[in-house]
Amino acid sequence: MNPTAQYDTVIIGGGPAGLTAALTLTRYRHRTLVIESPAPPRNAASRGVHGLIGLEGATPDELRTRAWEELDRYGLAQRLDVTVSEITPMPGDGFTVRADDGTTAWARNVILATGVIDQHPDGVEGFSACWGRTVIHCPFCIGEENADRTWALVADDPRYLGMAATAFRPWTGDTIAIAPPSLPGADALRRSLREQGSDLVQGEITRLHHTNGDLHTVELADGTRLERQTLLWPQPQRQVPLVERLVKDHGLALSDGYVTVDDGRQTSIPGLYAAGDLTGQAWEQGAVPAVTAGSAAADAIHFATLH
Ligand SMILES: Cc1cc2nc3c(=O)[nH]c(=O)nc-3n(C[C@H](O)[C@H](O)[C@H](O)COP(=O)(O)OP(=O)(O)OC[C@H]3O[C@@H](n4cnc5c(N)ncnc54)[C@H](O)[C@@H]3O)c2cc1C
Repeated sequence: MNPTAQYDTVIIGGGPAGLTAALTLTRYRHRTLVIESPAPPRNAASRGVHGLIGLEGATPDELRTRAWEELDRYGLAQRLDVTVSEITPMPGDGFTVRADDGTTAWARNVILATGVIDQHPDGVEGFSACWGRTVIHCPFCIGEENADRTWALVADDPRYLGMAATAFRPWTGDTIAIAPPSLPGADALRRSLREQGSDLVQGEITRLHHTNGDLHTVELADGTRLERQTLLWPQPQRQVPLVERLVKDHGLALSDGYVTVDDGRQTSIPGLYAAGDLTGQAWEQGAVPAVTAGSAAADAIHFATLH
């Protein structure tokens, strides 16, 4: 990155949100820089992204490659494969963006499209091999690929666990709930689930037995073994370090842990926009919402330049 390089907009994160913002801004003839960390993205384990019409089942890599082929046809958006470590707002005068290799750029506007970090459980043997295949975070994304199997919903929220018997019926008629030993109201929940043909099992998961990521048995700390083929196990999320730093150093506003934005996707810091997973709770996330948000942020930036 040239220390004096100046852009209309720097986009941080080259997933669906950031790349859609880049395409929209390119078509408005803005000079844009997309900075994408070389680390694997959140959905690196995905075998195919579902729900994006025209691109159904494309791998995350294919999506990104295809997006850059489209962007490169215009020749306006630049790309840098580094991790941004710091964004400094210059009141009334844009932002300085600094990467972890020490280089900097200046931009009038910045779009944060950094996604979120799923916090995988420590010490569960077999988790990584099954994640994204038979241990899934979202039925809408990967439920179809796990249809007609035995499922368990793993959670610690009694309201969510109460949906185990019915909510996943498009894909399976056999879902039980697995919850920690400390779950409040467990006896009543177990009775209710049993009446609906399901069940509640309590315990800490210690090992997932699988064959090349194809789960067959869940082992609990007390030695209990449950024959289950798919776990729906949403992971707690956190913001990436860059966003945590903006919160700490510059008062970037969060709501329930996610970046607060207005209707035009602007954050609490004027000129700093955010789009994609980092702004929404888990049930609001996905490639399609990220694409929509990236486009909305780009529109807002463009229309702000017209005044
Ligand atoms: C296993 C799995 C499967 C999924 N399958 C589906 C599916 O089938 N359909 C669907 O709609 N959704 C799916 N999702 C969710 C989907 O991947 C996300 O909702 C979507 O990718 C969000 O897009 P985004 O652009 O907001 O963030 P991301 O795609 O996460 O992109 C953010 C990018 O920002 C980069 N970044 C972060 N910090 C920095 C920094 N400091 N400097 C530079 N770059 C940075 C990251 O490396 C990342 O590449 C899946 C998720 C997972 C985990």
